[in-house]
Amino acid sequence: MASSIIDGKAIAAQVRAEVKEAVAQWVAQGHRSPFLAVVLIGDNPASASYVRGKAKACAEVGMGSETIQHPASMTEKALLELIQHLNADEKVDGILVQLPLPPHMDEKKVLHAIAPQKDVDGFHPENAGNLVIGQPAFSPATPAGVMELLKRSRVETRGAHAVVIGRSNIVGKPMANLLIQPGADATVTVCHSRTKNLAALSVQADILVAAIGKPHFVTPGMVKEGAVVIDVGINRIEDPSKKNGYRLVGDVDFHAVSQKAALITPVPGGVGPMTIAMLLKNTLAAATKNHP
Ligand code: NDP
Repeated sequence: MASSIIDGKAIAAQVRAEVKEAVAQWVAQGHRSPFLAVVLIGDNPASASYVRGKAKACAEVGMGSETIQHPASMTEKALLELIQHLNADEKVDGILVQLPLPPHMDEKKVLHAIAPQKDVDGFHPENAGNLVIGQPAFSPATPAGVMELLKRSRVETRGAHAVVIGRSNIVGKPMANLLIQPGADATVTVCHSRTKNLAALSVQADILVAAIGKPHFVTPGMVKEGAVVIDVGINRIEDPSKKNGYRLVGDVDFHAVSQKAALITPVPGGVGPMTIAMLLKNTLAAATKNHP
């Protein structure tokens, strides 16, 4: 059975259009535009490109944003002071610290310094905890984007067996938590590098989410006929035929698995575009929640 492709680009465009409309309404009610502060430390080209994408996306939906860039030599203390300043700044609704941080900085300490009500990445323990207990919280954008893809592709999560491969704090764990919440109602299995017989578990999945960081990890033998396969992975592999010498592939062997899955996300063009769209959604929510 050949699968249908979940068009993440089109769904993300829909979400962004909805956010744009909601921003216009918010402003029409006399509020200022939602505002996102993005902190970029160092000169990692991938991070710089992500940050540019986020600033551009904000502008497109009518939100304000500022990128605050500092060299990798910035001290952790100075970064924590900057975050305190942004926490206190009335004009800032959302704060995002682009990862990874330079090695001399304690990522946990930095992320935990962001005021939970401005933590639009959803990495603060208060938001992570609220997500687990089913209280309102900012959900990390990538797994929230996966939920939106499933919803808008009319995938029934209730009672479905969802297998999540990966247990990171930014993808795997929040993904499992979102799927298991009442309302989503999936039965969730989480796999990781210590899981025994991973293929025996993944092959049972009605919904399989791959968030591993290994190109083509998921092969057809690991997938049930008719499953929904969501590929979160973004991996660079060498490709001399490309001008830049590489191409992006996911964690799923797309061509082979798409012969078996009912629905599948491509890479690029699947989960990736949803991440920024959901960040915009979270920033709008921060503005409306903090300034009702
Ligand atoms: P991490 O490296 O933090 O986590 C990877 C997870 O995969 C870990 O839990 C690890 O297990 C598990 N894993 C690694 N090897 C194996 C294996 N052989 N068998 C089973 N499990 C394994 O990555 P992230 O969660 O941050 O990201 C995952 C992927 O998603 C990456 O490709 C990343 O680039 C991509 N990504 C994409 C985003 C998007 O916008 N689309 C956003 C964020 C990430 P263990 O815990 O035991 O080590």
